[in-house]
Amino acid sequence: MAEHESLEFGKADFVLLDTVSMEEFMANLKLRFEKGRIYSYIGEVVVSVNPYRAMNIYGRDTIEQYKGRELYERPPHLFAIADAAYKAMKRRNKDTCIVISGESGAGKTEASKYIMQYIAAITNPNQRAEVERVKNMLLKSNCVLEAFGNAKTNRNDNSSRFGKYMDINFDFKGDPIGGHINNYLLEKSRVIFQQEGERSFHSFYQLLSGAPDSLLHSLHIKKDPKAYTYIKIGGQIKTSINDNADFKAVADAMKVIGFTGDEIQTVYKILATILHLGNLTFGVDGDVTLIENTKQVSVIRDLLSTKEENVEKALLYRTVATGRDVIEKQHTTQEASYGRDALAKAMYERLFCWIVGRINDIIEVKNYDARIHGKNTVIGVLDIYGFEIFQNNSFEQFCINYCNEKLQQLFIQLVLKQEQEEYQREGIPWKHIDYFNNQIIVDLVEQQHKGIFSILDEACMNVGKVTDEVFLQGLDVKLAKHAHFSSRKLSPTDKSLEFDRDFRIRHYAGDVALVEDLFCCFSCLLSSNPVLKGMWPEGKLRITEVTKRPLTAATLFKNSMILLVENLASKEPYYVRCIKPNDVKSPLLFEHERCRHQVEYLGLLENVRVRRAGFAYRQTYPRFLQRYKMISEFTWPNHDLPSDKEAVKKLLQGCRFDHDVAYGKTKVFIRTPRTLFSLEEQRAEM
Ligand code: ATP
Ligand code: MG
Repeated sequence: MAEHESLEFGKADFVLLDTVSMEEFMANLKLRFEKGRIYSYIGEVVVSVNPYRAMNIYGRDTIEQYKGRELYERPPHLFAIADAAYKAMKRRNKDTCIVISGESGAGKTEASKYIMQYIAAITNPNQRAEVERVKNMLLKSNCVLEAFGNAKTNRNDNSSRFGKYMDINFDFKGDPIGGHINNYLLEKSRVIFQQEGERSFHSFYQLLSGAPDSLLHSLHIKKDPKAYTYIKIGGQIKTSINDNADFKAVADAMKVIGFTGDEIQTVYKILATILHLGNLTFGVDGDVTLIENTKQVSVIRDLLSTKEENVEKALLYRTVATGRDVIEKQHTTQEASYGRDALAKAMYERLFCWIVGRINDIIEVKNYDARIHGKNTVIGVLDIYGFEIFQNNSFEQFCINYCNEKLQQLFIQLVLKQEQEEYQREGIPWKHIDYFNNQIIVDLVEQQHKGIFSILDEACMNVGKVTDEVFLQGLDVKLAKHAHFSSRKLSPTDKSLEFDRDFRIRHYAGDVALVEDLFCCFSCLLSSNPVLKGMWPEGKLRITEVTKRPLTAATLFKNSMILLVENLASKEPYYVRCIKPNDVKSPLLFEHERCRHQVEYLGLLENVRVRRAGFAYRQTYPRFLQRYKMISEFTWPNHDLPSDKEAVKKLLQGCRFDHDVAYGKTKVFIRTPRTLFSLEEQRAEM
C-alpha cells in the first residue's frame, strides 16, 4: 500500500480528514510532524513544517522516485510540486510559478533551494555543456545573494532580508537556458543598526573573518567586528555560522558566475567604506560643521577613488532647490550623522541591487530565437518574507506586511475564486463558500488618492515642509472611517498606540503598529573607479536635477508589488505553505498555539474546505483515459463510444466510482483522493 494511505503517519492530504475542524487539522499536522512526515497536501498545495534537523529525503534516490510522477502517486514532497510545475510547463507549454510563503524561519529559502536542486537534477539528460553551465550559475547565485541579503536575526540565523522572485527559462526540450532574479525591498536599516541578538548582513562578517591579511590591509580594515560601530552589536554574537569558510565560498561563487576581479575588489571596497563611514564623528568649529576623524576621510577617499572634498561635501552639505536655483546648505552635526547613515544604507542597497543586476546580465537567456527553437517557457520561484510583527514596526515592516496582504489576496483569488470559476465553466454546480476577502486592506494601502502610500507621497511633496504631522493628519482625515485603520487621534484610549505619531493597521495576521521613518537622503560620490561609476550611472545628474521629484520608496515598492502580482497571476501557480513549529529551533517541539496561529493566517482550513466542497482531482477526458484506460474492458485498448467523456463515464461506472464523480464539459472531477488512489492501485495491478 502506498505510504500516503497508512494511518500510522496521519492523513497525507488534509482533504481526507474525517471532519474539517481546527482540532482535527492540528492533530493531523502534529502527528505527521512527530512521525517525521514534514510534508502534507491540501489538494495540490504543499504544507511544510520546518523539521529543524537534517532529513534524508533530498538525495538522488528520492529525486528518481518523484521524477515524472503524478502528485498523488508518492508521499507528499516538495519534489512532487516541483515536478508538477515542470510537467505543466513542459507538456502544456505553460508558464508556471511556485509561491512559497510562511513566517521568518519557517523554511521558505530552504524549500526554494530544494526545488531548484530538483529541477536542476531532472533536466539536461544529455549533459549539454551550455545547459550545465547555466544550471551551475543559477545554483551558485543563491550563495552570493544570501551573503549580501541574509542576516542572523532572533528568529532565524540565516534570515532573508529581501524578497526574491527568480525565473528559470527553459528551451523547447525543457532544459534551463537562463534565468532572471527580481529582488524586493532590502532591509537596509540593518546596515547601520541591529536589534539585540542580531547581526548585520553576513557579508561584513565574512569579509572580516575570511579575507586574507593583504586584502584587509589594503582596505584598512581590522579583523575585529567590535572595532566598527555599524556592526559592533552583531560582532559580539556567537553563532554556528562559519564566516571564514563562507567568505571563500562566496568569492568562488562570484568567480564562477563571472564577476571580474575588479568587480569583486570593488565589492570589498564598498563594504569597507561602509564600515569606515560608521566610525565617522562630526563636530563644530564656530559655525562650521566638520568631520572629526580626518584620517578616516582619506581612507574612504582612497577606497572610492575620489577626492577628499567630494567625501566631505557628500557628508557635510545637502543640495536644495529653491525655485530655479540649486544651492548647497551646510548640515548641523545631527543632520550630518543622519546623512552619513543614509549614505551607508543607500550604498549598501545600491551594491546589492548592482550584484543582482550583474547576475542577471550573466544568466539572462542569450541567442534564443523562438522562431527556430519554439516557445521559451518559465518556472518562477517566489521566496518572499512573511508577516512580521514587532512592537514597533518601521517602514520596511510596513511594506513587508503590505506585500503579504497582496499575496494572500492573490492566493485567495487564485485558489478559491479560480476553483469556483472552473466549476462554472465546466457546468458543475457549486456550493458557495464564504471566505475572508482582504481586498479591503490592500486598498487601504494602495488606492489612488486615499490609500496610505498616496497620502505618504502627498506629504512628501511639500518640499521643505515634510513632517510626520502632515502625513499623519492626512491619514486621519482620509481614513477616519476605515474599519482596519486606527490612530492615537482616532482612538485616544488605545494603550498600544503609545505615541501621538503611531498608527495601526489591522492586518490579516493580527494588529501591527507602525512608527514611521520616512526620510531618506541620497548623495553621490564622484569616483574614477569604473566599476563604481557603473553602480551610480546617474552621477552628477542627480544633484542638478533635484527639482524633479524622484518616486518615493513607498511608490516604487507598491509598483513593484503590483507588477509581481500581475506576473504571478499570468502563470499557473503552485503553492508551498511553510510552518515554523517552535521558536527555539527544536526538532522535537510542536508548539500548538503557535502553529495554530500560522494555520489560521495562512488560510489553510479555508483551503481544505474549498477543496472538500469541490473536487480533489480533475483531468481532461483524453488524459484521464490515457492513464486509466487499461483498467476497463470498455476502454482497453481503445473505446468505440461516441466521445471520450462517454468512455470515462463507462469506465468509472464499471468501477462503481460513479457516485464520487462529476462530469464537466471537458474534464472529469473526482471528489475524494481515495477514489484516485484506488484507480492507481487497479492500474498498478494490471
Ligand atoms: P526568513 O523569512 O527569515 O528568510 P525562511 O522561511 O527563509 O526564513 P529558512 O532560512 O529557509 O527560513 O529556514 C530556517 C532554518 O530552518 C534553516 O537555516 C535550517 O536550519 C532549518 N530548515 C528549514 N527547512 C529545513 C529542511 N527542509 N530541512 C532541515 N532544516 C530546515
Ligand atoms: Mg529566507
